[in-house]
Amino acid sequence: MELFSDLKLSPKILKAVKDAGYEKPTPIQEKAIPAALDGKDVLGIAQTGTGKTASFTLPMINLLSRGRARARMPRSLVLCPTRELAAQVAENFDTYAKNLKLSKALLIGGVSFKEQDILIDKGVDVLIATPGRLIDHFERGKLLLTGVQVMVVDEADRMLDMGFIPDIERIFKLTPFTRQTLFFSATMAPEIERITNTFLSAPVRVEIARQATASESIKQSVVMFKPKRKDKEASEKRQLLRHLIDLEGTNCTNAIVFCNRKTDVDICSKSLNKYGYQAAPIHGDLDQTKRTETLESFREGDLRILVASDVAARGLDIPSVSHVFNFDVPIQAEDYVHRIGRTGRAGREGTAIMICNNRDQKNFLNVEALLQKEIPRTNSSDEYSSAKQIKNDNLKSKSVSTEEYLTPDKEIKTKNTKKHQKSENNNRIIGLGEHTPGFLSQSFNDRLAS
Ligand code: AMP
Repeated sequence: MELFSDLKLSPKILKAVKDAGYEKPTPIQEKAIPAALDGKDVLGIAQTGTGKTASFTLPMINLLSRGRARARMPRSLVLCPTRELAAQVAENFDTYAKNLKLSKALLIGGVSFKEQDILIDKGVDVLIATPGRLIDHFERGKLLLTGVQVMVVDEADRMLDMGFIPDIERIFKLTPFTRQTLFFSATMAPEIERITNTFLSAPVRVEIARQATASESIKQSVVMFKPKRKDKEASEKRQLLRHLIDLEGTNCTNAIVFCNRKTDVDICSKSLNKYGYQAAPIHGDLDQTKRTETLESFREGDLRILVASDVAARGLDIPSVSHVFNFDVPIQAEDYVHRIGRTGRAGREGTAIMICNNRDQKNFLNVEALLQKEIPRTNSSDEYSSAKQIKNDNLKSKSVSTEEYLTPDKEIKTKNTKKHQKSENNNRIIGLGEHTPGFLSQSFNDRLAS
């Protein structure tokens, strides 16, 4: 494999890369960086965890190191689907451009317009934005995109899921056609293919094998969950989750628990906390300050369990997550790959455990079809008994009481279970995913309260 020094990046950038502790470029960096430095468009088909962020930030910084920004005309633009991902790209810029004087602005929800306006007025080298917020600024006449020399679209497949494609098209059209485009997507849906055919010019295509097949360091398993009582299914499922966490014992240093629905993210997190597992939720309905705080404490190791929805977690760079628990089988098979990609990063060992109930069977088979392999399965009843055994063996050392293990999860009232299940199901509007407007999807908690 090549060395970073073979990549024709400027010495100041190479120094920053060295300080970041990277020894060799990852496969996507090895291929995308030289092409981008040559001024070519790049189409990167790769996921988070492959080092794709540096594969576009490093050549951009190299290019931007020459020349100066003009007022209200950013020289480069990075579009990201979520605020967290945008903030993460901004951090990457800070790391790799620390030896250069480059300015940047971050246009994301939850960050004040005013401060960003001041920065943009002065002129920025890099503008990192979510599409909606960028268009807001543009429409307020605060921004000109005619000076954009390089435009990056990150996680285009997620943009598609979130309904951002029309915004992306519009933004493409606002930038000069001579711009260089670096475009990244984990998958190539027909709509994405169409966009790249329209807006990229003879791109160098760099495809990196799916992480799930590439990352042999993730130990995967699935627990086939059969509730003992249909009317207690939700609480039994949360109980199973706790048992699975217990089974992993001290090996589980930190974990992300993924739920399909935002309401379940909240419920699961509350439930875990109630039982003494330190957890916090992260999803799109929480305010930005709270999300940032939660992420920070998870990164710092102060928070052990992050309960997340797909959109909120997409692309988050959290080093050394020991475990991923899929509380639900994801509806989109690709999301499984993204979810488990949070663990087993950079060759570290990781464990991914999924709970699958009868209703999830079809989605589960889609996941296996995508992976082209079988995920080892256990039965929830086997899991219960072995959990009990291990628990009994380790009671003292793990300081969890038998009572806790045997007590069903009570914090969510299950009296009205039929209504409860119905509202949980109603809460998801198929096809709208995370972006179900509030008025269509009154939260489950609200309904319970009413
Ligand atoms: P990304 O796919 O951009 O989210 O990057 C995943 C993780 O890999 C991040 O924590 C990066 O800091 C790290 N990383 C990126 N490039 C390299 C490299 N060449 N060597 C080691 N780690 C890297």
